[in-house]
Amino acid sequence: MKGLVDLHIHTTASDGTMSPREVVRYAKEKGISALAITDHDTVSGISEALSAGKEMDVEVIPGIEISVDLNIEMHLLGYFINKTPELEENLNEFKTKRNDRNKKIIKKLNELGFKIDLEEVLNVSGGEAVGRPHIASVLLRKGYVGSMSEAFELYLGAGGKAYAQREKVEPKEGIELILKAGGVPVLAHPKYLNLNNKKLDKLLVKLIEYGLAGMEVYYSTNTIYESGEYARLAIKHGLLITGGTDFHGKNKPEIEIGIGRGNMKIDYKIVKDLKEFKDRLGS
Ligand code: AMP
Ligand code: FE
Ligand code: FE
Ligand code: ZN
Repeated sequence: MKGLVDLHIHTTASDGTMSPREVVRYAKEKGISALAITDHDTVSGISEALSAGKEMDVEVIPGIEISVDLNIEMHLLGYFINKTPELEENLNEFKTKRNDRNKKIIKKLNELGFKIDLEEVLNVSGGEAVGRPHIASVLLRKGYVGSMSEAFELYLGAGGKAYAQREKVEPKEGIELILKAGGVPVLAHPKYLNLNNKKLDKLLVKLIEYGLAGMEVYYSTNTIYESGEYARLAIKHGLLITGGTDFHGKNKPEIEIGIGRGNMKIDYKIVKDLKEFKDRLGS
């Protein structure tokens, strides 16, 4: 019998607060038998997680979460991704776009009167993909905001006073990048696209043309009704059904590994389906 799985996890390589090794150990303690490391725009945490997984007998799936742009931001998960030179080259470009955006945000925050600089943000990050949660945690530490979510609501989120956009990455580009690296492309947390079912249905047709293979149907903040609707759409379009918590450690303290807000339970069957799909991709 294989136990719980969690296919959406961040480490210190991006905006999680546990190192890849710590995440694997923590997952093991919580009875998780398989997990995917899905850091934002980087694969730099994967090798540490893979060796920790071997030592501790936890199955580690190499993954990534790539940010692309529709009208709003969209996230793509890539499972069983290989670290190819082409992937690394593209991720380096994403890193530059991220860093340019971070500088713009910090400039806006300075104009609002907050004392914060890039150096401090890099210090709390320590990983490859530096982002808004790192900026938020500096704002929190300095008492400019009362919580991480307040930092996003007032300043860093779309519509916030210090919001800045990254140079665009097209959804097609993101999907192709994952496929070229041998990965299985999956639409992350469709809930955050804020589309009604009809619009999501249309979007899926497009993304499937580009090569989308699955959708993250089970997610920490979904209602049962939402997960049901996403499952229906996934089945309608022949998409793989996946699920994960989006664990970030202390950066999202309300989300626990494996169980999310307490009510998630993802079966190993999802991993089996992903593997079968990956085998059929033949790379
Ligand atoms: P970035 O990758 O730098 O664009 O930052 C996006 C990340 O910020 C997401 O992946 C989440 O981890 C985090 N995030 C987004 N919105 C919120 C929020 N309202 N509260 C806390 N964290 C958030
Ligand atoms: Fe994140
Ligand atoms: Fe995401
Ligand atoms: Zn995530």
